[in-house]
Amino acid sequence: MIIHSYGHTRVYEMEALLKLFVPAQKFAFSTAETPPTDDDGISACLYPQVDGTQLLQGHVIWQGAVHRDVRVLDGTVQGNVLDREISALLYPMLCACTGLRPAWGMLTGIRPVNLLRRFEQRDGGPEAAMETFRNVWHVTEEKTQLAARILEVQRPIFAATPKRAVSVYVSIPFCPTRCKYCSFVSNSVTQMKRLLPQYLDAMRQEIRIVGEMLKALSLPIDTMYIGGGTPTVLDAQDLDALLGWLKADLLDANPIPLREYTVEAGRPDTITKEKLAVLQAYGVDRISVNPQSFQNAVLEAAGRPHTAEDTIAAYRLAKEMGFDNVNMDFIAGLPCDTVEGFSDSIRRAIDLQPESITVHCLALKKAADFYASLPMPDAEAVRQMVEFTQETLQTAGYRPYYLYRQKNMAGNLENVGYALPGKEAPYNILMMDDSQTILGIGSGASTKLIGAARGIQRVTECKYPYEYLERFAELMEEKRKLSETLLAILP
Ligand code: SF4
Repeated sequence: MIIHSYGHTRVYEMEALLKLFVPAQKFAFSTAETPPTDDDGISACLYPQVDGTQLLQGHVIWQGAVHRDVRVLDGTVQGNVLDREISALLYPMLCACTGLRPAWGMLTGIRPVNLLRRFEQRDGGPEAAMETFRNVWHVTEEKTQLAARILEVQRPIFAATPKRAVSVYVSIPFCPTRCKYCSFVSNSVTQMKRLLPQYLDAMRQEIRIVGEMLKALSLPIDTMYIGGGTPTVLDAQDLDALLGWLKADLLDANPIPLREYTVEAGRPDTITKEKLAVLQAYGVDRISVNPQSFQNAVLEAAGRPHTAEDTIAAYRLAKEMGFDNVNMDFIAGLPCDTVEGFSDSIRRAIDLQPESITVHCLALKKAADFYASLPMPDAEAVRQMVEFTQETLQTAGYRPYYLYRQKNMAGNLENVGYALPGKEAPYNILMMDDSQTILGIGSGASTKLIGAARGIQRVTECKYPYEYLERFAELMEEKRKLSETLLAILP
C-alpha cells in the first residue's frame, strides 16, 4: 500500500492513521506531484490558494476504486492542527471503504486518558471532553466511557501526589529465557550471564550518583519501581545487594514515605521463598506474578517455560508470606488461544483474587514475525476477549485505573490495568500521564524530566547492557549534569 503526500510533511501521522485500518502492513511512500491511482493507499495534498487559504485534497484508493474529498483550510493551519484536518478528511473515507470503525476513532496516540484530561481542562469539564472524544475524534461510546471511568479513579491519586517529588525506575533487563512475543530489550541470562556482575557493579555506582543528586536537591522519592526484564532473575544474594544499595543511597534519607515500592517478579519460574523474603525485608509492597495465560498450550506456544500450575504455586507462596498487593499480567491474542480459553484464564485469575490484573493485547507485528505457522485469534476474537475482560473484571469489583495503547496492537485496542479499590499503582498512572519526573537507573531505563524547556525531556540510557557498560563513564557524566536541569524545572 502507498502513502502519498504533497505540500506538507505530515507523513508519520498519515501512516499512523492508515495503520488503524491495516495494522500489520508495510507501506511505500510517494511525494510525487500527482497522487498515484494504481496502488491502494491514501493521499493528502496541500495547495496554497491565491486568497490565502489552503486546499487540502484527500484520496483513498481501495481495491482499485478512488475516493476523493477536499477541505478548505485557513492559510495558517499547520502542525498538529493540520494532522487533525488530514485525519478528519481521510478517516470517514477509510471507514466507508474498509467497513471498519476503529474503537478509538482517529486517535493514534498512546495515551488517550491523558488526552481526555487535557480536553477536560480545555473544553470546560468532563462532559465537554467526552463530547470532543465522540464527535471530533470518533471514539466509540464504550471507549469514551472507559477513558472517563479511568480518569475518575485517577483523580484522588493525582491529588495525593506530592508536588516536588520524583519516582525512580530501576531496570534489570535480563530474563531466564526469552518469550517469543517479547518486545522489550531483554537479554536471557544464559547468554548474558557473564555481564551480570559487571552490570550490578555499574548499577551500584549509578545508584550512588542518583542518591547524591537527590540529597543535594532535597528531592523526595514518591514511588520506586524495579522492572525489566525480570528482576527476580537475580539470585537472592544479588537481589539482597541491589535492594540494600537502594535502601542505603536512596530510601534511608527519603523525607517522605514511599507510596509504592514495586518489584516485577514477573516470570513465575524465577520466584522462590528466599527471594520473596528479601523483597519483604526491604519493604517491597507490590509485586507482579504474571501468568499471561492459564492455558498450558498457549504458554508453550508463547515460549514461556512454566505452566499455569507454576504460576498459581508462586502466587500462593507470595500470599502465604503476606504480600497483599500482587498484580497479574495477561495477554489477549496469543497464538493457540481462543475467546473461551482467555475467558477461562480471566475467571481463574478472579478466583485467585490478586489485587490487580493488567490485560495487554498482543502487538501484531511481533505476532506476524513469530507465529506465522500457528493459529492466531483474529481481531474480532481479541475484541471479544477484551470485552469479556472489561465486563467480568468490573463485575468482580476491579476498576480500570490506567490505560495505554501501542502500535500494531491486535484489534487496535488497548492495554488496561484493573485494580481493587485502593490497590492502584501510582507509578503506572504517573508514568503514563507524564506528570511526574522519573529518574531511570540502568540500561534501558529512561529518565523523564517533566517541565523541562520543551515540556518533557527524555534521556534513555543505552538499550543494551553491553553498550551501557562500554559507555558507563560518559553516561554518568551526563547523569550528573541532570542536577542542573532538575534544579531549574522543579518547583
Ligand atoms: S518475561 Fe517479559 S521481558 Fe522477559 S522475555 Fe518474557 S516478555 Fe520479555
